[in-house]
Amino acid sequence: MTKYVFTTGGVVSSVGKGIASASLGMLLEARGLRIAMMKMDPYINVDPGTMNPYEHGEVFVTDDGAETDLDLGHYERFTSAKLSQKSNATTGAIYNTVIQKERRGEYLGKTVQVIPHITDEIKSRIRSLTAEEEPVDVAIIEIGGTVGDIESLPFLEALRQFRLDVGPENCCCVHVTLVPYIDASGELKTKPTQHSVRSLRDIGLQPDIIVCRTGKHSLAREQRQKIALFCNVVDDAIINAEDISPLYAIPLNFKRQGLDDITLRILGITAPEGDIAEWTDMVERLRAAEKVVHIAAVGKYVGHDDAYKSINEAFVHAGTFNDCKIQLTWVDSEEIEKAASTQEMLRHFDGILVGPGFGSRGIEGKIDAARFARENNVPYFGICLGMQIAVLELARHKAGLAQAASTEFMPDTAHPVISLLSEQRGVKEMGGTMRLGQYRCDLRKNTRAHKAYNADTIYERHRHRYEFNNDYLDTLLETGMIVSGTHPKGEHELVEIMEIPDHPWFCAVQFHPEFKSKPLHPQPLFRDFVAAALQNRQKRD
Ligand code: GLN
Repeated sequence: MTKYVFTTGGVVSSVGKGIASASLGMLLEARGLRIAMMKMDPYINVDPGTMNPYEHGEVFVTDDGAETDLDLGHYERFTSAKLSQKSNATTGAIYNTVIQKERRGEYLGKTVQVIPHITDEIKSRIRSLTAEEEPVDVAIIEIGGTVGDIESLPFLEALRQFRLDVGPENCCCVHVTLVPYIDASGELKTKPTQHSVRSLRDIGLQPDIIVCRTGKHSLAREQRQKIALFCNVVDDAIINAEDISPLYAIPLNFKRQGLDDITLRILGITAPEGDIAEWTDMVERLRAAEKVVHIAAVGKYVGHDDAYKSINEAFVHAGTFNDCKIQLTWVDSEEIEKAASTQEMLRHFDGILVGPGFGSRGIEGKIDAARFARENNVPYFGICLGMQIAVLELARHKAGLAQAASTEFMPDTAHPVISLLSEQRGVKEMGGTMRLGQYRCDLRKNTRAHKAYNADTIYERHRHRYEFNNDYLDTLLETGMIVSGTHPKGEHELVEIMEIPDHPWFCAVQFHPEFKSKPLHPQPLFRDFVAAALQNRQKRD
């Protein structure tokens, strides 16, 4: 029978519920338990696919093509839980389902209301998560937003009901809160946590475990006892989550405080002690790395740290494997356009990444960056738009097609070297309509890609509308590039990976390799790109 952990957040948003949930998942898996993970988001967008990543953070894509919240990326990096369309549900998606049912007449005669219809739909989504053939011991459900917000209410009410439906002994509520440090009095303040727990109790939910974010400070014994007393939680279930770096050390901190033992005790599960030695070694190795590799990530101005979360993390994994730290510097491509010399802006870097992106702003600067990398033998890694840019650069400067463009930026271009995917023609709706999710890619032998993956066939995730236009394949091949990965599609093959063999490391992919990178299994292309950048650095030192 499946048991449930519910994670809620209090006092402030972005308090770290996602990492706390993922860390608990990792610790439970280490003890041999099969877990499932899910996030409920209280906003009205049906999914985050239509939201600006500079505001909301990265859109994480699952194998089956769901566009989801970036917390799902943490779940995948910390655990082996299988994530799918079922793993993320928003208020918008839930209302959408209920309204469609109403239109079909499925509630005939009834007034459709938040309770019970919306709450029933929330509960049925939680249940469907564990309805797969593969049994799940513990399902961890994170509720986005902050307790006390109007929009979280239906979710919390659904949890209250769900707990009674499956039996309180099968549920564990984890509340993650901020315990702020007040400089003037020189102490951590527990009052906001008390109020947040009171709001939860008003709804009928009592936390079993409280995870306290305390910044640089630590909870003293008296403060722990005070929170326990006022919040009606046993002492050892107050977990202190100080700011810890690297991110991957967070589960180790939780383990030291017995978070997994306490959770299992509350859920009435007995499980072997488990083994986290490999994870601990990885964290040690990450901390011990001394060499530094400088990578320029060329893109639009990025004010939001989380906009490229999975890319940042994939570099951490690749760096750990190569025993180096990655200094990733975001270079605004519009600044490259304005600069007198691209050389001046980029010459200090050991490798250049052009990552995913949409729209025409800053494109020329990215093309300049790809040209600089190609002509100066600097390792280049292109992801999604970064592959399209590499192809445009070659078309313009090596194939003599000065007008080469993508129809995304220039619909009437004389040379649409990158053009709309055939199945995208006629697509009008924005939400969930890109080429999304995992597709097969066949690798050509004796190429960098084949060497990296050491496989003939791979599966990677996509999120784009435009592709390499095969009408230009022969012209492009004459410039010295090769196609090392293709997706079989009817008569022809989609170009998924291109490389320049006559270059220390120049490789670009139409898919998003960052989504599948894990701390113990770095993504092969990131791993090899970092190794090439490291070599470049050592050559120049
Ligand atoms: N804008 C490009 C496309 O839609 C690239 C998308 C991306 O980088 N994810 O094809």
